[in-house]
Amino acid sequence: MQIDIITVLPKILEGPLNQSIVKRAQDSNLVDIHIHDLRDFSQDKHKSVDDYQYGGGAGMVLMVEPIARCIESLSSKKRYDEIIYMSPDGIQLNQGICNKLSLDKNLLILCGHYKGVDERVRENFITMEISIGDYVLSGGELAAAVLADSIIRLIPGVLSDETSALTDSFQDGLLAPPVYTRPSDFKGMKVPPVLLSGNAAEIEKWRHKMAIERTKEKRSDLLD
Ligand code: SAH
Repeated sequence: MQIDIITVLPKILEGPLNQSIVKRAQDSNLVDIHIHDLRDFSQDKHKSVDDYQYGGGAGMVLMVEPIARCIESLSSKKRYDEIIYMSPDGIQLNQGICNKLSLDKNLLILCGHYKGVDERVRENFITMEISIGDYVLSGGELAAAVLADSIIRLIPGVLSDETSALTDSFQDGLLAPPVYTRPSDFKGMKVPPVLLSGNAAEIEKWRHKMAIERTKEKRSDLLD
């Protein structure tokens, strides 16, 4: 998979996308991430990419021209399955969307900033708008990092134990059951004995039961 990300603040993305599982996925060529600085597509001598909004009001708006130039240039080299704009008014990200996007080959993600992007970008270049929740961030970079991480870990071969992503919360419509590691007795707080029993069928049964209980308790809406 190839993921291209357009941003005015490339440095914010460098950290989260160069650690742990996402870094290993890139090192093993399972995903190729390219971060594009929108300023490189400005033809202005000051490299400006934003301007005041028409009609007045606080907050700068990312201009259509550099974004159009950048998207057109990238799209001339490959066909994108989706051109995604990170936006608080987009469709809210969930595991189903991550699963679907993880099957794509080429994704382009646009991060807004300040007041957002000129509406003409959204109308003419964007195929999908994704929000990571009902709150407003300063920019789309952290949201893009969340999206990229949640997709990349689903690409076959990225997680060392391939079944691991399948046993995470939401994959089967349930929250994940509790997990424990050593020691089995911490100051009298004991790990449930079934997990130490070595009986795989009983362990599976217990995990399923706990997943249902946890879902009932914390997210009963998922059981509807
Ligand atoms: N004026 C806009 C918010 C702009 S916030 C509004 O009220 O809807 C600046 C940028 O941060 C946005 O362009 C978007 O790319 C990103 N952003 C903010 N909150 C986000 C969220 N919840 N999900 C995804 N992206 C978000």
